[in-house]
Amino acid sequence: MEFEDQINQLNDMIKNSNNIVFFGGAGVSTESGIPDFRSKDGLYNQKYDFPPETILSHSFFMSETKEFYKFYRDKMNALKYEPNITHIKLAKLEKDGKLKAIVTQNIDGLHQKAGSKCVFELHGSIHRNYCMKCKKFYDGEFVFNVSNTGIPVCSECGGIVKPDVVLYEEGLDDEVVEGAIKSIANADLLIVGGTSLTVYPASGLIRYFNGDNLVLINRDSTQYDHLASLVIHESLGNVFSKID
Ligand SMILES: [Zn+2]
Repeated sequence: MEFEDQINQLNDMIKNSNNIVFFGGAGVSTESGIPDFRSKDGLYNQKYDFPPETILSHSFFMSETKEFYKFYRDKMNALKYEPNITHIKLAKLEKDGKLKAIVTQNIDGLHQKAGSKCVFELHGSIHRNYCMKCKKFYDGEFVFNVSNTGIPVCSECGGIVKPDVVLYEEGLDDEVVEGAIKSIANADLLIVGGTSLTVYPASGLIRYFNGDNLVLINRDSTQYDHLASLVIHESLGNVFSKID
């Protein structure tokens, strides 16, 4: 099918739906310039003694907090990035009452920055940080701008401040997962974009979809292409810039 026909079909599906859910992966953020730290040519193996999976693990955070924060501030600081056309169009669809939820694997908060309200952040957010002792909240600036020892410390009690980001070895937040499942199960149109659907929990969550149309937008094929009503092998930006 020609790209133009695919866009027409997608616009028709959106027009006929009032319960859209968008499920997004790293590809949504890379178009804002944020590197995918899981990709081979991303950030890996540059100047650190450990692979990112090790550094971004719970046990590493607990035992090598200073080293963790060195990497975290160097590689995970997405504060300066701006939403792209995909974030913006999705926020508009929600405002128009068409889109009910976004489920994302990204932690950069760009959907909220674009104006989206109902966002299930499966892997947490760099914008939320909590003191491990007294639970006091700290924003992203506090953690990324800290100097001295490099470890952000609570101004109230001196406890170590930890990002509300799901590290390796940690489980997902139950409430977030339940909200995501509920939204997906109730949707009549599920648009999946910017993910190869290989990383847990993406592949598991879309199984809950029971609605009319599953749309997959990804540059490469996925194992779910045959289940979709519409598959568009294009960049998200190219697709969403043509959404009505
Ligand atoms: Zn504290």
